[in-house]
Amino acid sequence: MVVVAIDGPSGAGKSSVSRALAQAFDWEYLDTGALYRAVTLLRLQNENSELGNFVDGLLSSAHSLTWVGDPAQPQMILKGENVNALIRSQEVTERVSEIASHPLVRGYLLDIQRKIINKAVQGIVVEGRDIGTTVWPDAELKIFLTADLAARAARRSAELELEQANSAGDVGQSLAKRDAIDSSRSSSPLRQADDQIVVDATHLTLAEVVAEISGKINKLRLIDGGPSHD
Ligand code: C5P
Repeated sequence: MVVVAIDGPSGAGKSSVSRALAQAFDWEYLDTGALYRAVTLLRLQNENSELGNFVDGLLSSAHSLTWVGDPAQPQMILKGENVNALIRSQEVTERVSEIASHPLVRGYLLDIQRKIINKAVQGIVVEGRDIGTTVWPDAELKIFLTADLAARAARRSAELELEQANSAGDVGQSLAKRDAIDSSRSSSPLRQADDQIVVDATHLTLAEVVAEISGKINKLRLIDGGPSHD
């Protein structure tokens, strides 16, 4: 079983690239940010309880979070409901980095992430902030996908279909704020590790990034007789 870890800052294109790779190689896909977002959504509905009690509650309701890792149609299911849209709300986006900085939350999700990866059959592409450093340090390929802030803001604005002239600036501020929290937390922060291969997408299209990483997968001979994507 092959694990490809794609880490990097917000808006670098990790989701599009990871899904495209998983589809190309017929592997599974795990968006760990979706798990942090789902926990944040739950927390917003349970803000009054103490955080430890909140996480204990998550632990005791074993099936509250379910991830469906089909790269063509990934789904985050919370208590039986598809919350793909709800976890992308501005409210969740604004709070997720703070909630994700708590060691109790990270410990809870670390276990879930490793279980999902362990269940993969042929291979899995896992995207996040700490996959290559903490969640799965033995991944066969570890990529740090980045791009300069202006390029990331432009990409995210386009995804959100924002039209105002200053939207890229607003989006850029929001990305920079999340990056700052994600990079400075003490529990498995976002950082570029020595054994990660840096791919800078600032001047590359999605197809070019996918081709570059596919080439690395093929080159490392991670798969026997799989499709070639040079
Ligand atoms: O990838 P996405 O932007 O959806 O992630 C949302 C947030 O979840 C990140 O800004 C970060 O705070 C948190 N996260 C994390 N560790 C991961 C994945 C996401 O802390 N492995």
